[in-house]
Amino acid sequence: MQFKEVIGQQEIKTKLTGMAGSGKIPHALMLLGPEGDGNLALALSLAQYIQCENKQEDDSCGVCSSCVKNQKFIHPDVHFTFPVVIKKSTEPPISSDYITQWRTALASNAYMNSNDWLQSIGAENRQGNITVRECHEIIRGMNMKTYESAYKIQIIWLAEFLKEAGNTLLKVIEEPPANTIFILIVENVEMILNTIISRTQLIKVNAIEDTDVKDALLKRFEMDENAAKRIARISDGNFNVALNYAEGEENANDKLLHRWLVCCFKLKDKNSADNSSKLFEWVEEISKIGRENQKIFLKYALFFLRECSLISLYGNSEKLDGEELKFATGLSTKLEPNQLEALSKILNQLYYHIERNGNPKILFVSNSFKIASVFKNEEVLTD
Ligand SMILES: [Zn+2]
Repeated sequence: MQFKEVIGQQEIKTKLTGMAGSGKIPHALMLLGPEGDGNLALALSLAQYIQCENKQEDDSCGVCSSCVKNQKFIHPDVHFTFPVVIKKSTEPPISSDYITQWRTALASNAYMNSNDWLQSIGAENRQGNITVRECHEIIRGMNMKTYESAYKIQIIWLAEFLKEAGNTLLKVIEEPPANTIFILIVENVEMILNTIISRTQLIKVNAIEDTDVKDALLKRFEMDENAAKRIARISDGNFNVALNYAEGEENANDKLLHRWLVCCFKLKDKNSADNSSKLFEWVEEISKIGRENQKIFLKYALFFLRECSLISLYGNSEKLDGEELKFATGLSTKLEPNQLEALSKILNQLYYHIERNGNPKILFVSNSFKIASVFKNEEVLTD
């Protein structure tokens, strides 16, 4: 991957190319930033840049044999470690068990999150792991001589999955064999052993700027500028989320949410069979859109509730406008902050179960009643 393919993040690109260009690249780097910010894309571009045989000031050449291999993620001196689940044997899994799927996943979306990846390798409900056995593989790889380049590069995607296994790597990160570079990619630094943090040079990466997300969407999708702007606004600098919105039927989500909450609100009226039949119609509809779109819908709903909370607190939302803003303002005046929080909790739980292959019909019905009970509380509070 080349830096020019990485969305936004100009400051970080300049920093990384500066370091690599002057030969002052630290032997262990930690790229720390929120999901969807392009950490992995930056690491891939940096690896390619370091190994490029004809590097320019601001990017790799993209055509030398080293670049060609890096672009296919098959360079023999670039090693990848990422969370995996057990495959067939009872032996602890290692990343190379899944290297083919990994290359495919990188080629299709370097902004993916851990769940996208784990689901793509059939993890279902299983947790991903970076095992002690994988750590021994890393040490073995780093101690081999380089095949083609001056440097061996080890990229560890989501080092938080190392957990205690990280102890195995302390020594090699502190005193790495000559010409080796570790690039650790981290989203949640509190899950990383302090002893690892202290052995790496930390580079903080921020969420992507809205205008950069917008421009990237316009390049990839046939959509008008306003739609791209809107998706950028509600994606919060997470390009993976922006892609989901752009690929899914994002525009329908606000209306779908509006109808759902109205249905739930009306459930308060026990005597009306008509109200529950409207809800069941809605559940039928959401059940048909597929799990991925249900997740996108729930992410949107969570985003919307957060904006409602901001309106409660500060009287305004910078991310919403038009009908959405009207609806959010109405809701935030009707509900107390603790009710908004309760709704977010319900939706987070629902997301969790949908993601883990729960039955959507059952889940959406039962959670609609939970939401209705939060609304009921509203009457108690305002009475
Ligand atoms: Zn090159």
